[in-house]
Amino acid sequence: MRIGFIGLGNMGAPMAANLAAAGHEVAGFDIAAPMPAGVAKAASIAEAAAGAEVVLTMLPDGAILRRVAAEAIPAMARGAALCDCSTVDIDSARAVAEEARAAGLGALDAPVSGGIGGAAAGTLTFMVGGTAEAFARVAPLFDVMGQKAVHCGASGAGQAAKICNNMILGATMIATCEAFALADKLGLERQKMFDVVSTSSGASWSMNSYCPAPGVGPTSPADNGYRPGFAAELMLKDLRLSQQAAEGADADTPMGALAARIYADFVEAEDGRGKDFSAMLPRLAARHRR
Ligand code: NAD
Repeated sequence: MRIGFIGLGNMGAPMAANLAAAGHEVAGFDIAAPMPAGVAKAASIAEAAAGAEVVLTMLPDGAILRRVAAEAIPAMARGAALCDCSTVDIDSARAVAEEARAAGLGALDAPVSGGIGGAAAGTLTFMVGGTAEAFARVAPLFDVMGQKAVHCGASGAGQAAKICNNMILGATMIATCEAFALADKLGLERQKMFDVVSTSSGASWSMNSYCPAPGVGPTSPADNGYRPGFAAELMLKDLRLSQQAAEGADADTPMGALAARIYADFVEAEDGRGKDFSAMLPRLAARHRR
C-alpha cells in the first residue's frame, strides 16, 4: 500500500519503520524528527499525502492535528483514508473526521495503547472510531503495527475508549501507590503486600503488571530508576483530556478529577516531569498526613 506518515517522533518513527519493513511504500514528513529506516522523506505534508491510499498521523495534540489535517486533506485522492493515531481531544477527532468525509475520504481516530515498546515491537492495541468501511481499509496496517484493533464505534469512539481507559489507569496507579506508602508506615513488607494484593480483590494492571515498587513483581520502570515507560506528563495529558470530555458530556468523574489534580501537582509543582507515572510511589512514600 502507498502510505503517508506524518509525525515521526517517539511513537510514529517505529510504527512507520514497521510498515516499511512489511513491504509498504511509506512517505514520511516531520517538522523536526529524522526519517526512520525505509521511509522516504517528503518535502511537505501535502507531498506525503498526495497519492497515498492511507495517511497516518501521530502528533502531539488536537490543535496540531487540525493544522496538519487542513494541509493533508486537500492533497489526498478521493477514496483514500485519513487515520489519526495520536491521543487528542474528542472534538478535534470528530472535526477532522467531518472535514475528511466532506472531501470524500475515509476517516478514523485510532489512538494506541502499548507505548514506545509496543510501537517498536509492533504489538500496539488500536482503539478505533469511524465507519466499518474505513476500518476494514486500514485494518491490514493495524495488523502490522499492533496485535489488536478494536472497532469501538463512530468517529470519536476510539478517543473515548482511550481516555476512559487511562482515567482508570491514573486513578488506579495512585490508589496502588498510596496503599504501598501506607503499608510501609504500618511495617508491612512491600513483597508481602504484592503477594497478597496481586491475587486478591485489590489486584490491577498497576499492581500485577507494572508494579510501582522496585524489586517487587515483574520488571517495570520502578526497577529502572523510574525512567519512563509512560511519563507522568503524558498521564497528566490524558487525565486532562478525560476531564475536558467529562465537562463536555456532563459526566461526574470525581476520581478522575482528583487524579488529574495530583498528577498536575507532581508534574508542574514538584519534580515529576520526565519520570515514569509510577514514580507516584516514592512521591507518596515521602509525604506525611497533614
Ligand atoms: P513525540 O513528541 O515524540 O512525536 C510527535 C512528532 O510530531 C514530533 O516528531 C514532532 O516533530 C512532530 N510534529 C509536530 N508538529 C508537526 C507538524 N505540524 N507536522 C509534522 N510533524 C509534526 O510524541 P510521541 O511520544 O510520539 O506521541 C505521539 C502521540 O501518541 C501523542 O498524541 C501521545 O499522547 C500519543 N501516545 C504516546 C505514547 C508514548 O508512550 N509516547 C503512548 C500512547 C500514545
